[in-house]
Amino acid sequence: MALARIHADVAAVRSLTEDVRELTLALTEPSTIDFCAGQYLHLLIPAPQPGQRPLKRAYSICSSPSERGRITLLANLVKGGPGSAYFFSLKAGDQVKLDGPTGQFVLDQKTARDYLFIAMGTGIAPIKSMIIHLCEQNSRRPMQLCWGLRSQRDSYYQELFHALAAEHPEFSYAPTLSQPTDGWDGLRGRVTHILPDLIHTVANLEVYLCGSQHMIADVKAILRTKGLCPIHTEKFY
Ligand SMILES: Cc1cc2nc3c(=O)[nH]c(=O)nc-3n(C[C@H](O)[C@H](O)[C@H](O)COP(=O)(O)OP(=O)(O)OC[C@H]3O[C@@H](n4cnc5c(N)ncnc54)[C@H](O)[C@@H]3O)c2cc1C
Repeated sequence: MALARIHADVAAVRSLTEDVRELTLALTEPSTIDFCAGQYLHLLIPAPQPGQRPLKRAYSICSSPSERGRITLLANLVKGGPGSAYFFSLKAGDQVKLDGPTGQFVLDQKTARDYLFIAMGTGIAPIKSMIIHLCEQNSRRPMQLCWGLRSQRDSYYQELFHALAAEHPEFSYAPTLSQPTDGWDGLRGRVTHILPDLIHTVANLEVYLCGSQHMIADVKAILRTKGLCPIHTEKFY
């Protein structure tokens, strides 16, 4: 089935780090959408050259489903990539077209298992939507976020997740930096490095993984050594 076409205005652009940007889109037609936390939209990329075809790139919705008329998307700059170059070229007031929402990377709220969210870089986008949604619902299921970033300079949304963890006792947050600079007293190493010590059993876990295919394969292999549990994945590349 064809996805619905969405028209939106860029309402705000935030540079979160040197190579990560967040767009806030105000939907114009339709003026609201319904989506499940974790779903994504296809952003239409105008043809780079005359005579070439327009492109589409998937971007996960980073904001909560409760914000139906204003959504945020998050992207990192990929060298030579037309999609991220377009994303980074957008300014407040620009008009964009998207198709969707779509995707199966959504919360299973039927089981009573604890949530373990593992994200690499901008793989936080769908997971942020899920965590905010669960907090808004006052979910009582314990949830832990393990997010791998490079260094303090490459970190963002830290205040948000620390504030959510302070407000919601069932939510715990463990950022880990692979290349921390001086003064970092948190976890060190990639998520695959810290996971074996962080998780002792998966018996009561429901896991959500988002990032590169290598990260997903490596994390799955580590989790399998701890037993079997449902694992949901979203592969960005
Ligand atoms: C379901 C889904 C949801 C996605 N959601 C997001 C999102 O929320 N935020 C986001 O930044 N990206 C997301 N992506 C990736 C995004 O769709 C594009 O692939 C990405 O922006 C690069 O597009 P490009 O045209 O600039 O580069 P391309 O020409 O498509 O790719 C160039 C090269 O970069 C690699 N690459 C692709 N994405 C990345 C990346 N993020 N980091 C490093 N290397 C990469 C590709 O494997 C390829 O080798 C998602 C992908 C999928 C399938």
